[in-house]
Amino acid sequence: MDINLKPKVVYEKLENIVIIGNGGRENSLAWAIQKNKQIKNIFLIPGNGGSEKIKKCQSLNLDFENKSLLIKTLAPLDIDLIIIGPEIPLAKGLGDFLRSNNFLVFGPGKDGAKLESSKSWAKSFMKEANIPTAEFWKVSSIEESESIIYSAPFPLVVKADGLASGKGVFIPETKEETLKITKEIIKGKFGESGKIVLLEEKIEGPEISIFALCDGKKYLLLPSAQDHKRIEENDKGLNTGGMGAYSPTPILSNSELSIICKDIIEPTIDELIKRNIDYKGVLYFGLMITKSGPKVIEYNSRFGDPECQTIMPLMDINFVNILHKCAKGNLKGDESILSTSKVSGCVIAASKGYPENYEVGYPITFNNEEFKDLQIFHSGTSINEKGEIITNGGRVLSIVCQADDFDSAFNMAYKVLKTIDFSGIYYRKDIGHQVRKNYSFGENNG
Ligand code: AMP
Repeated sequence: MDINLKPKVVYEKLENIVIIGNGGRENSLAWAIQKNKQIKNIFLIPGNGGSEKIKKCQSLNLDFENKSLLIKTLAPLDIDLIIIGPEIPLAKGLGDFLRSNNFLVFGPGKDGAKLESSKSWAKSFMKEANIPTAEFWKVSSIEESESIIYSAPFPLVVKADGLASGKGVFIPETKEETLKITKEIIKGKFGESGKIVLLEEKIEGPEISIFALCDGKKYLLLPSAQDHKRIEENDKGLNTGGMGAYSPTPILSNSELSIICKDIIEPTIDELIKRNIDYKGVLYFGLMITKSGPKVIEYNSRFGDPECQTIMPLMDINFVNILHKCAKGNLKGDESILSTSKVSGCVIAASKGYPENYEVGYPITFNNEEFKDLQIFHSGTSINEKGEIITNGGRVLSIVCQADDFDSAFNMAYKVLKTIDFSGIYYRKDIGHQVRKNYSFGENNG
C-alpha cells in the first residue's frame, strides 16, 4: 500500500476577488493575482479599457460610491476578498463600510487612511511616535504663513494638507515664491484639501519608497522601489502622480533597511496599535535618506502608482494569499513573496499637457504583444463605441519590463514604447537614470 507522507495542504477558499479602482495599479494587482490557480474571477470596479484583457478579469462599471448598489452587486458574487486600490475611497471609509457588511477587505479603514488623507495629522502622529521626519508648521492664515516663511532658518516645502492626487506639493526657490504658493493654496487652489497648509523644512537626499503589507500587527516588506515624480527629464518641472519607476532600489543596504525597520516602520505600526487603529492593508513609506539618516516624507495608505505596476511582475503566485492573510489578521511576516531575482522598470506614457490640462479620447495603437517579461498595463484608458481603446486620462499606459539588469529592462521598455502611439503621447526618456549604467543626461536614449 502506498502511503503518502506529504502533509496535506488545506487552502482556504480564495476564488473570487474584487479590486476597487480604475488605474494601472489595479490592473497590475489583477494581473499578479490571476496567476494563482485558486483564483477563478477578478472583478474590477470599475476597471478601465485594459482590465478585461487580463485573464479571469471582468470590469463592473458601477460607481463604488453608491454603497447600496455596490452591496447589491457584490452579494451574489461569493466574494472572498476585496482590495481597495485608490486613496479617496479609503479616506472616505469604504473599507469600514465593506467590513461592516461582512466582507474581508485589504485596505485600511478611515482612521488608518488618515496617515495619507491629512498630512498634518500624519506629521503629529510621527512627532508623537518619535519617527524621524522634516520640521514642520501647520498654517491656515496668510499672516501666520508670512511670519514663518520669513523667519525659517531653512528653505521650505509647501504642501496642501489633504488629498491632491500627488499635485499638492511645491518646492519653491525663493521666500517670495513660497509665500505666493502658500497664499494660492489657502485661497482655494485645492479646495478643502488646502484649508490647512503644511510648511516643511526642505530636506535632501535620495528618495526611496518602501511598502509594508500589514495585518494590524505584523508586516511584510515588498521590494523597495523608486519613482520619478517630476514631469520633465532630469527630474525637473511639475510634480505628477509618477512618470516611471524601478525596483528594487540598489541604494539600500541590508543594514540601512534594518535601521528603517527599527526607527520608522516598527514605531509606525506600534503607534497605530497604540491608537487602536487596526491597519490591514499596505502602508507606504516615502523616505528620504538624508545625511542624518532616513526621514519620512510621507505615508500613503495604498500601493503607489506606478511603483505597484513595477513591483507586481516580481511577485510570487502566493501574493494573493498574503493579501488574504493581511485582511484576516494572520500574517506571519516571514512569507516569501518574490518569484524572480530580476529587476523591473516601468515607464509611463502620458497625455501631452499632463499634469495640467490635457485632452482625452484619442485612439491608441499597439504593435506589440505582451510577452513573459513585458507588461503593458492600462492606466487612463477606456473603450469607445467602435470598440477601440482610447486615452482617458493624464497617465495612459504603464510599460513594464523585467531583465537581469536595469539597462536591459529600460532598453526593452523604450523599444516597446516606440511601437505604441496616440495623439500627444509623452514620456520621459530618462526613467531609471540612477540605475542605468549606459545612461547619461543629455543623450537621446529614447
Ligand atoms: P509627497 O507628495 O509628500 O511625497 O511629495 C512629493 C515630492 O516632493 C517628494 O517625492 C519629494 O521629492 C518632494 N518633497 C516632499 N517633501 C519634501 C521635503 N520636506 N523636503 C524636500 N523635498 C520634499
